[in-house]
Amino acid sequence: AKTRSESVEYVLKKVKDDKVKFIRLWFTDILGQLKSFAITVEELEGALEEGMGFDGSSIEGYARIDESDMVALPDPDTYKTLPWRPKDEAAVARMFCDIKKPGGEQFEGDPRYVLKRMLKKAAEAGYIYYVGPELEYFYFKDENKDQKSTGFLDQGGYFDLTPLDVATDLRRQTVLTLEKMGIPVEYSHHEVAPSQHEIDIQYTDALTMADNVMTYKLVVKEIARQNGVYASFMPKPVFGVNGSGMHCHQSLFKGDNNSFFDKNDPYHLSDTARYFIAGILKYAPEFCAISNQWVNSYKRLVPGYEAPVYLSWARRNRSDLVRVPEYRPGKETSTRIELRSPDPACNPYLAFAVMLAAGLEGVEKKLPPPAPIEENVYEMSEEERRQKGIETLPGSLDEAIRLFENSELMRNTLGEHVFNAFIENKKIEWNRYRIQVTDWERERYLPIL
Ligand code: GLN
Ligand code: MG
Ligand code: MG
Ligand code: MG
Repeated sequence: AKTRSESVEYVLKKVKDDKVKFIRLWFTDILGQLKSFAITVEELEGALEEGMGFDGSSIEGYARIDESDMVALPDPDTYKTLPWRPKDEAAVARMFCDIKKPGGEQFEGDPRYVLKRMLKKAAEAGYIYYVGPELEYFYFKDENKDQKSTGFLDQGGYFDLTPLDVATDLRRQTVLTLEKMGIPVEYSHHEVAPSQHEIDIQYTDALTMADNVMTYKLVVKEIARQNGVYASFMPKPVFGVNGSGMHCHQSLFKGDNNSFFDKNDPYHLSDTARYFIAGILKYAPEFCAISNQWVNSYKRLVPGYEAPVYLSWARRNRSDLVRVPEYRPGKETSTRIELRSPDPACNPYLAFAVMLAAGLEGVEKKLPPPAPIEENVYEMSEEERRQKGIETLPGSLDEAIRLFENSELMRNTLGEHVFNAFIENKKIEWNRYRIQVTDWERERYLPIL
């Protein structure tokens, strides 16, 4: 690994080769919205040395009571030019930033820091945490230029390749742009719902991945915009068809060795993997407010649309919360678990931090996982599920917040600042929704009541 000063030196040289004039400094608020401000190349050296000051008072979850001055310190290892901006003259690059207080101490409200702190904890136990997320999204026609219409571009389904699939070209451009930005792509395909798509980026360590997820979402939206449509990661944009998930494949490594692999286990899973699963199953209801943070997230987590509802795990069944992909000989490094609840509208830094915290808690306490359930949990009667002790994810944001705010693990993982700011924000969100009178209510109640 390069030292910071080696990386700084590399960036200072690279901006000249790349003819960069503007550098966008990126970070996220607690909800995972990408924030950016641009500096000119003349400011770069100073920015890399001391960071750039900005006013944090209007950044969601940042404002501190005493003061709002903050400093963004660019991470030179995240330097990339933006392929959709001019190339030969006045090009534009970006770097992700760590957020500091004016005195130089770390700002504890920075989601990237929350993840780094958790990764450090894992590293102290000897683990590197890898994540491979599958982000799904929709393309919609932008009929009124307000990004609120839901007209489909195609009527395709899972893995469909039709001449009418205009999105094939959108996906192609997106994949090529991601690769130009150093984000290798493994798969891209049409998803189950009309106009729904998925592009899977190659797994990496969780910090790189959280940065990659932020870039991915911007690139998908940018390419859509250039083509006169828009892309949305809203978890359940259309009633009656699948919503969009962000299944997260996860594993722990010690050096080059996959700690989840055991050749003698029938599932090829080590005890570590089983404890990790147990931790995820135990804490999924508590971290659900983070992995599924919107009112709308809970419209996706319902039976019938390949999204999880019940707290179970299995190899085959795709209704389970945790799935263990079938082992393929010679692929020890790819033994992993897939958590299916998160949606792509979460904050990836916080989501990866809480998933890791839950899994590690299982590993540290050697929590025994429940037996895998290979039958379809949706087809069981409620009585059968009760007998097997299968519980459910929270059914609404309201329920999720209640479970979250009583969670010691969440408080410790996120830290007081993020924990409290998040609860405050989400309670406001829920209260705004709670007082709405919806079309469904009018249609159902006006004629009969
Ligand atoms: N869209 C489904 C979900 O909400 C997943 C469908 C799939 O990947 N097969 O999680
Ligand atoms: Mg997939
Ligand atoms: Mg999918
Ligand atoms: Mg999947």
